[in-house]
Amino acid sequence: TPGTDTQETDAIAELGEWQRTLRAHFPIITAHPELAYLDSAATAQKPQSVLDAVHTYLTTTNANAGRGTYPWANRTTDLVEQARDRVKRFLDDPAPDRSTVHFTSGTTEGLRAVARDWLPGLLADGDEIVVPVADHEANIAPWLEARRHLAARGVHIRVRPMPYQRSSGDYDHTALAELAGPRTRFVAVSHVHHVYGGNMNVHRIRRAVGPDAVICLDAAQSVGHLPVSVADLDVDLVVFSGHKAMALPGTGAVWARQSRGPRFAPGGWSGTPNTVGIASLTAALDWLDTAGTDRIERWTLALTARLTEGLRHLDAYEILGCQKSLAADSSVQRRQGIVTFRHNAVDSGDLGFILFSHGFMVRSDQHCQGGAGERTGSVRVSLHVHNTPEEIDRLLDVLATLG
Ligand code: PLP
Repeated sequence: TPGTDTQETDAIAELGEWQRTLRAHFPIITAHPELAYLDSAATAQKPQSVLDAVHTYLTTTNANAGRGTYPWANRTTDLVEQARDRVKRFLDDPAPDRSTVHFTSGTTEGLRAVARDWLPGLLADGDEIVVPVADHEANIAPWLEARRHLAARGVHIRVRPMPYQRSSGDYDHTALAELAGPRTRFVAVSHVHHVYGGNMNVHRIRRAVGPDAVICLDAAQSVGHLPVSVADLDVDLVVFSGHKAMALPGTGAVWARQSRGPRFAPGGWSGTPNTVGIASLTAALDWLDTAGTDRIERWTLALTARLTEGLRHLDAYEILGCQKSLAADSSVQRRQGIVTFRHNAVDSGDLGFILFSHGFMVRSDQHCQGGAGERTGSVRVSLHVHNTPEEIDRLLDVLATLG
């Protein structure tokens, strides 16, 4: 099974050389060998090629898009259009219509755009939508807001809350199978959960809701970390943040399946797009594809397994969405680069400070979990390809000194 000790050791041995080369691509990481960046789920660090693309665009091309007819303007228009193709290729969508990619400032704005511009055209009075109760707030609030706006127009939809299994951090698939019915038109899900780190079982969700329901994937924590193939996943909408996928902040995209129709930006080129951000997104997706998201995934899974295993042996820590005993936990192999835990006596904010005093940058709070999310704080460690087994071992040593 994946996630066993041998697989972890094999991955680290096989990919070690490759990983050392890639780590050197991140100037901010190599400039600070005394620090360990363990907060990639909040935002990812940028490789040199992304920084170069930003510099090149701003020093050779910068203009507005979709307006002027001189070369810089034309090049910028092309850059935005080609970036749509780049997103489609990255998500493994061979359909020709590039207008199904809509650029946003991030996942929050992308999910809002779906709720505001896309969803109303799908829903009729009496339809039902499924909303996960403990996802990121960004994947809860827009759907409740959409229900209010639709009700004001006389369209009454029902929101069916999708529960979790606390022991595994996965959705409660049995409950979903029961609550999904013929009026279920839309299902909001995460690909990788931003607190529990689980790779949510999207195929099982599709089986439960049937082929006609629209599945909208919050891919904030998967794009850039593992292969995301819309051909394989059979989802209809994918929303992600560029900045979590190594592009600049203020970037993101919504992809819609062509057969579901593009319904964004009805005015075409209305408003100035974030052209430099879009240039950085293309460079980031190029970098990720060249590095290989399958190898990035293998590397971070190995580090995740190492950290989870280490934490299991430290009595003072509870790992969220995870059984403490390996025998009881069938989900450990599915945790993707995110491990969230709390100490039984040390406050999570204090733990964050203690860890930073040793050079570890982690997130400590409630991680924007909405609805029925965790009520007490915790520390989240999130990994990317620049992280190393040595960082994990040093972190575990420090955690061990606290019990
Ligand atoms: N959804 C998930 C699962 C996230 O982890 C995040 C960010 O942490 C968001 C949505 C919001 O992303 P952004 O802040 O880029 O809009």
